[in-house]
Amino acid sequence: MPVPRARELAVRSATGLLRLFKAVGRLLMRAGAAFVPWSLDRLRRLHAWSRGQSVLSSRARRSVASAGFVAILGVAALGSCLSGNNSDTTPSASGSPSASPSPSVSAKPSPSPAVVPKKVDESKPPKGSVITRTTDGSVALTFDDGPQPTWTPRVLDQLKAAGIKATFCLIGRQVKANAALVRRMVAEGHTLCNHSWSHDLRLGHRTDVQIKADIERTDAAIHAVVPGVPIHYFRQPGGEWTAGEVKLVKELGKVPLGWAVDPWDWKNPGVAQIVSRVLGHTGHGSIVLMHDGGGDRSQTNAALRQILPALKAKYALRPLPPGTV
Ligand SMILES: [Zn+2]
Repeated sequence: MPVPRARELAVRSATGLLRLFKAVGRLLMRAGAAFVPWSLDRLRRLHAWSRGQSVLSSRARRSVASAGFVAILGVAALGSCLSGNNSDTTPSASGSPSASPSPSVSAKPSPSPAVVPKKVDESKPPKGSVITRTTDGSVALTFDDGPQPTWTPRVLDQLKAAGIKATFCLIGRQVKANAALVRRMVAEGHTLCNHSWSHDLRLGHRTDVQIKADIERTDAAIHAVVPGVPIHYFRQPGGEWTAGEVKLVKELGKVPLGWAVDPWDWKNPGVAQIVSRVLGHTGHGSIVLMHDGGGDRSQTNAALRQILPALKAKYALRPLPPGTV
């Protein structure tokens, strides 16, 4: 249809032209900041020079100075006018907010509200909404950041030798390449927990859709290896929970899993430190955090040789109830 098309073309050209003016205006404003002192300096020099020229009358010298001032004022006014004018840009089709920080001075009605993705509630989760203790007083060992080909088998070997079952928080993208280890975890009676697709520490700050997609993608990777096995728990990497994420995790039927004892074994503080931190802080009902992935876990493995028998002698060690999700 030619008429609307011609109108559209005209509007586009006008908009383009206005944008060009605006850009030139901004450039001039920026240049103006440097231009004014520079020209004043030139004027002073010109004045000094003209005083030494007997051929110029005092009237001619005044004229030179006045012309210089008028030129400076003209450039400054033009720059200000062009950049101020049309600072209220035509709203784009998407309605996205303008990146320009300059405030609008025109009385134009504001564009329709921008379509912003729903922001998750980033406040701290309510107390007690992330579990840190078991309900039956047993001690639950949890291992994060696997499956990993070097260290996870060693942790599994030690747990098997000691007759202890634990909970493994798996990173989704590592599952496929270590499928046999995930099958072994399930076969040996351990509980599985979702630890996000790529250990995203900022996951709790993303949108509802992104958080849900990440958790479901991880579940799908695990279920591709062990179909139908419940993944009843989700643990936010780094424990960086937000209230919105906790709400969403619960809506997905999962339990937000925290911890009561954290020996910081991922920082490799030394075997003795890991042992004393775990044994010193664990009590009835403690959920204990350790790592079978995320780096060299030789210290954790060495520490487990002392931790497992010591805890076993004092507490009932059980995996978290597998649940139904
Ligand atoms: Zn982790």
